[in-house]
Amino acid sequence: MIGLIFGPPGSGKGTQASRLEREFDMAHLSTGEILRSEAAHGSPVGKEAARIMAAGDLVPDDLIDRIVESRLRRIEPGTSVLLDGFPRTIKQAQALDRMLAKLGRNVDFVVALDVPEPLLVDRLLHRAAVEGRADDTREAIMERMHEYHSRTAPVLDHYRRSGVPVAEVSGVGDVDEVLDRVRNALRGALHLPRYKPGAGGI
Ligand code: AMP
Repeated sequence: MIGLIFGPPGSGKGTQASRLEREFDMAHLSTGEILRSEAAHGSPVGKEAARIMAAGDLVPDDLIDRIVESRLRRIEPGTSVLLDGFPRTIKQAQALDRMLAKLGRNVDFVVALDVPEPLLVDRLLHRAAVEGRADDTREAIMERMHEYHSRTAPVLDHYRRSGVPVAEVSGVGDVDEVLDRVRNALRGALHLPRYKPGAGGI
């Protein structure tokens, strides 16, 4: 199973992805995490990525496509994968379709978290105070929102047009509440029985 977790900055993609990873035994692949780790190691790619990320811009498609392709190749065939933060442009979505086709796989579902923008900005500014992420400045946050609306949001339509189940879920509320909604939406999208608390499984 290949799933995507999708949503604007601050919508809780990373948090939900970590929960789904543990609960459903999926390999969690976060392009933001990979880039932050490259940046921390100070590799040439990392230095360039750090500059772009701090400004709230998207790193070039070719670079991120190469990173994801090499990671996907390293994952055991048949392992379920949850992609977080990728694809963020239509070009990346097309590149992912090609990569997966080569591996005989395809995107099985998309979970899209929906959160009103003022709440996203509040959450990101709060995270800035707690974690001090370089791209959580007010200016970079505004740029990331702009990139999301202009380049990333259209990716959802790419999947809808391709017939991939897209489950839209409100990302407002606490982590467990949102996780329940995600589970139920996935069950609906994948035509499974609805989630009952305590029943286990997806
Ligand atoms: P995230 O942790 O997903 O919020 O990503 C943090 C930053 O990493 C983004 O604002 C981008 O600068 C960069 N980034 C992560 N994933 C991608 C991607 N798929 N394409 C381009 N840039 C990305």
